[in-house]
Amino acid sequence: MDQNESRTMTRRGLLRLTAVSALCLSLPTMTGCMTVPKYKPIGAGEGKSMELIHCNIVDVIQGVVHHDRTIAIRNGLIESISDRIPSPREGSLVIDMKNQYLIPGLIDAHCHSTLSSEAEFNPFGVPTMLGQVKRNYVQQLSQGVTTIRDMGALPKLLHKNLELIEKGELAGPRVVFCNAFTNVYGGHPDLDPADVSAFSGIAMAFTGNPSLWFKSIPELKEKMQGSLENGASFLKLTMDNKSLLCGKGEIPVYSEEELQVIFEFARRNNLPVAGHIHTKFGFDRALKYGINSMEHSLGDASLTDREIAEMAEKKIAIVPTMGIAQMLAAPEAFDKIPEEYRNDFIDRELSIRRQFLDSTPDHYIEPAIHKKNVEALQYYREYGCGNLYKNGKFMAKPDFYFHVLLYGPKNLLKMKEAGIVIGCGTDAGIPYVYHGTLWREMEMLGRIGFSNQEVLRCATINNAKILRREDKIGTIDKGKLADMVVLSANPLVRIETCRDPKMVIKGGQIYEVSPLALKIHESDHHG
Ligand SMILES: [Zn+2]
Repeated sequence: MDQNESRTMTRRGLLRLTAVSALCLSLPTMTGCMTVPKYKPIGAGEGKSMELIHCNIVDVIQGVVHHDRTIAIRNGLIESISDRIPSPREGSLVIDMKNQYLIPGLIDAHCHSTLSSEAEFNPFGVPTMLGQVKRNYVQQLSQGVTTIRDMGALPKLLHKNLELIEKGELAGPRVVFCNAFTNVYGGHPDLDPADVSAFSGIAMAFTGNPSLWFKSIPELKEKMQGSLENGASFLKLTMDNKSLLCGKGEIPVYSEEELQVIFEFARRNNLPVAGHIHTKFGFDRALKYGINSMEHSLGDASLTDREIAEMAEKKIAIVPTMGIAQMLAAPEAFDKIPEEYRNDFIDRELSIRRQFLDSTPDHYIEPAIHKKNVEALQYYREYGCGNLYKNGKFMAKPDFYFHVLLYGPKNLLKMKEAGIVIGCGTDAGIPYVYHGTLWREMEMLGRIGFSNQEVLRCATINNAKILRREDKIGTIDKGKLADMVVLSANPLVRIETCRDPKMVIKGGQIYEVSPLALKIHESDHHG
């Protein structure tokens, strides 16, 4: 829509907008040439106001809907919420939200925006990889995710993309980031790009190294300082002592002295510390040091009530990323799934995983990448898990992730009971887990035993707390950023409604929804 064409959008305007969205959704799936959509958001313009009338606002904290409200937005913020109907003012844009439900902009509290979700590095596929990385941001935003927390990036590539988002050349969420992982040399992600391919070493000159990989305390201090000066707003540690890759065992961990230096640096600079923790070894250390958030779920322990209580007491949050266990617990690795890995919950998750793999999830991934990912699953049987690493195939250990499915739900329900802040994140960017699929993690929390209201809270206000941004995002309230998702039904009743946002509002800018909107908008061509 041309902004000069009309300053007032009434019901007819909204209908037209909705019709455009519907048209986009009905168009055939994009194939062939990698295309990154360029959204043209609709906004009121600098200093002008936009009024959303007849809104049904979902209050994620109270679990109720406030009907028929008017939300006034100015300069990207929610200026007021009232029940008055404005008379169209000169220069104000009015949009009728009748029969629509508005939830706070969703937050993906754990993802890797510069990783392309590929199971295998392909030196000839670099243009596809880079195109996918741009698509990552568009996919997140078009699924209602207005903020992401990037948990370990290729730093140079990240900053290039942030600049494009800032300039309005790439549609994407706002990004809270840590740059690279703060990891000891050889620690998780224990994959030296030089081992993957000589070519990836060259590529890294362009993208930056995702691993900080320090070898001494002076180097650690210098690199943490460098990352802070490069905009990092938290530290991401990798706490496990075991590799997650098939055919690899123990990996190096921080010394106590290094952990003291890291936590001291964090305290001095008021930075939260997040830790990749899949093992009890990592959990115990994180608990001792009072980490701010644990990332992922344990695959080797049921936590005791005492451990959970200590976690609650120390106000340690968790972002469980259970969806990665669903995707990486690969039955393809077995002739027959071992009996110990079978229960009703796991059987159901495996069938949902199968459906997703068999679908054409083109909204969430470049089709060529998905096809290769599915093909790579045959490596488990072809080589045997133990032989994969030495053959240059870097696949996750399925047994480990089956154990996450066994232990994770019970630990998580206990944490919920103890009042621990539970966030919601995808880990998108890792193989098989795609950007824009927060709804899959949300629905999985539901299957684990969270109510719809709890799921919504995890993906909004709880995540905002974990990001230390609850004064700006996470609820629809006066004074906060105008980040909202427009849905056609009440997600407190049906959480699946979140799969299909009708519009996404980020900082007061309205984005029509559909990754396929590229069909009607100007596009960028790559590869
Ligand atoms: Zn991660």
